[in-house]
Amino acid sequence: MNENQQLAELLFGNIDKTPEDYEKIYPARNLKEGARVTRFAPSPTGFLHIGGLFAAMIARLNASTTDGAFILRIEDTDKKREITDGVTEIIKGLNAFGIEIDEGVIAFNEEKGEYGPYQQSHRKEIYQSFAKRLVEQGLAYPCFCTEDELNELREKQEELNVNKGYYGEYAKCRNLTFEQQKEKLEAGLPYVLRLRSMGDENKRISFDDLIKGKIEMPENNIDVVLLKTDGIPTYHFAHAVDDHLMRTTHVIRGDEWIASVPLHIQLFKTCGFKVPKYAHIAPIMKEENGGKRKLSKRKDPEAAVSYYIEQGYPKESVIEYLLTLANSNFEDWRKANKTAPQSEFPFNLKKMSTSGALFDLIKLNDVSKNVISLMTAQEVYSKALEWAKEYDEELYALLSKDEAFAKGIFSIDRGTAKPRKDIAKWSEIKEYVEYFYSELYKPCYELPENLTKQNAVEILEQYIKEYDYSEDKDAWFNRMKNMCEPLGYTPNVKEYKANPEAYKGHVGDVSTVIRIAVTSRRNTPDLHSIMQLIGKDEVVKRLNNALDFYKN
Ligand code: GLU
Repeated sequence: MNENQQLAELLFGNIDKTPEDYEKIYPARNLKEGARVTRFAPSPTGFLHIGGLFAAMIARLNASTTDGAFILRIEDTDKKREITDGVTEIIKGLNAFGIEIDEGVIAFNEEKGEYGPYQQSHRKEIYQSFAKRLVEQGLAYPCFCTEDELNELREKQEELNVNKGYYGEYAKCRNLTFEQQKEKLEAGLPYVLRLRSMGDENKRISFDDLIKGKIEMPENNIDVVLLKTDGIPTYHFAHAVDDHLMRTTHVIRGDEWIASVPLHIQLFKTCGFKVPKYAHIAPIMKEENGGKRKLSKRKDPEAAVSYYIEQGYPKESVIEYLLTLANSNFEDWRKANKTAPQSEFPFNLKKMSTSGALFDLIKLNDVSKNVISLMTAQEVYSKALEWAKEYDEELYALLSKDEAFAKGIFSIDRGTAKPRKDIAKWSEIKEYVEYFYSELYKPCYELPENLTKQNAVEILEQYIKEYDYSEDKDAWFNRMKNMCEPLGYTPNVKEYKANPEAYKGHVGDVSTVIRIAVTSRRNTPDLHSIMQLIGKDEVVKRLNNALDFYKN
């Protein structure tokens, strides 16, 4: 055994599996040409951020559109920052938005797939096996420097005004002899394992980022830490080992990692791994005071995916909106393919924003209104009910009390060529259905400016005389028109516009008075359908109540 091998034994005597063993356990995947293996690799350190969901969606899409595989890997090497239920929160968040996992962690301490374990804290021996090999090859070494020594080093580098970090002549432990290493190890000194960097900061490395294009940076010359004192890997080393063994083809992640790519490429090469393709996603931005800033976990409630769940945005809407942020041609595609499933969109990494898409809640609402307008009444009913069960007891009770009635509400003007776009989220449903339920109804008889109370009295008195529950929509509308002339209105809007002095108003004003009397709103879906659903007695009662109001 040469000295490197002896050192490797001293450090990792307990490790008996070799990298070759792991290559066999995790063989190359049998995938069709062009299939992409992607992963979402969050740390369980907080709630799922909308940016995380965005990245997961993009990785998911890349795998689905190429018949590849999408992995959920939990990067829990930093136990200090981990939160209770961190893993469950991530899984719950992804599930809530329909992001399905092909492989990886699927519940607390539960996983599926042949390339696991998928939780880094369960992979310690794997990392150590690869670390051991690097030591055997002289490509990694133990560093015994204390916190104080590292601080001193930093101060010295500051004084000399040179690059900071553990490298070259500043890398004290890089040149320890085997005897010195052995002595320190035998004395039980704590150590980290460092890469013996062969990089030269005067040379440049370039790579093609699938989103950002060609990027050039200096090579890494820092002897970075691979394993911490507790034998747990740093993010960088774990990334190389995991993405190699999980046979990831495309590393899709936040662009805060771009600066580390030279190191990552170096690690892949040093370990003898094929370098994956990289795609770095710019953060989601928010407009503020005319400028742009990153959506912030601390400042913006909409940064947490729980916000969308609590507000009752359907998962389809959130994904649909994220797709508009992901590829600017998505909206055109959607116009041409109104009802196609989202999964059919030909997503393209190259069409992603390189500087960060702007997040806009108003736009989200518009997108969501459109998505909801295309759902069936049954879908709206069951999704709203499911939301209400958790977040609005009163609404839940109302909707479940008479299912057919509730579905009747959601059926009005639905399934037509131009469905109405009234609802953006389930938390708006209560207001939307308010006037259908006497329990919720709060009459408000305010008229538009062009109508007086006297006008309303005349219209209502006439309509109460004529009201016929049994008539169909056409008959009802003809009645509206026929009522016009005797009351001094015209059934013809054009005619009214040409000669407004000649009339009190037009047929729209007549129906507005009735609409307000029955629903307290100026704008509703089809009024005839509403009155049919509310029922004869209730309609008559409301018409009379309104009449009384205007008379006084
Ligand atoms: N655990 C890293 C993070 O939370 C993952 C980065 C990556 O996807 O490689 O950002």
